[in-house]
Amino acid sequence: MKSVKSSSQNGAASSAKGKKTAAKSDAASGLRDLFEDSLKDIYWAEKALTKAIPKMIKNATSEELVAALTDHLEVTKNQVARVEQVFASLGVKAQAKKCAAMEGLVKEAEEIMSETEDGVVRDAGIISAAQKVEHYEIATYGTLAAFAKILNETEVADLLMETLNEEKEADDKLSEVAETSINVEAAAEDTEEDEEEEAAPAPKSRKK
Ligand code: FE
Ligand code: FE
Ligand code: FE
Ligand code: ZN
Repeated sequence: MKSVKSSSQNGAASSAKGKKTAAKSDAASGLRDLFEDSLKDIYWAEKALTKAIPKMIKNATSEELVAALTDHLEVTKNQVARVEQVFASLGVKAQAKKCAAMEGLVKEAEEIMSETEDGVVRDAGIISAAQKVEHYEIATYGTLAAFAKILNETEVADLLMETLNEEKEADDKLSEVAETSINVEAAAEDTEEDEEEEAAPAPKSRKK
């Protein structure tokens, strides 16, 4: 026997223009609830990164990039512990809740790595993916610190600000590696390829 889903629950709402999202039964009812849910989200994200960053390191070729990622992997492991410290300070059980955004960003990083040739171009791709991750974390920790402040959780706010600053540092370091070496080398490879094509032109020349 096939079970038939009742359409009466969402049927009316789906036709309404600008409808609100129906809240789940375990929906956050206040700012503190939302704050705690967001902590569970970033806890999952940080733990996911302790597994994703090693894959980026394995795929990277630039010594500087490997060093920057290796450094941030250690920082990230400490950030996992810091989130646990935040949970403890709040008297909330440390619990991870899947972060859909980080899952997507990690997936995109894997895509970029599989779709680029090994070398400086893949390095440039890894940096682009890693910076998207850092920016997601910067946005998240910025919000979490602001929530903690308004909720009078001063100690927790300080811990979150500490992590926020580490994420900003990681982002700046990646920009520096990209701008001072990797992007330059990757662009130079393009120029070399263009010159080779000019020396031995392909039957159909590309539009320029
Ligand atoms: Fe982090
Ligand atoms: Fe998230
Ligand atoms: Fe980070
Ligand atoms: Zn940035």
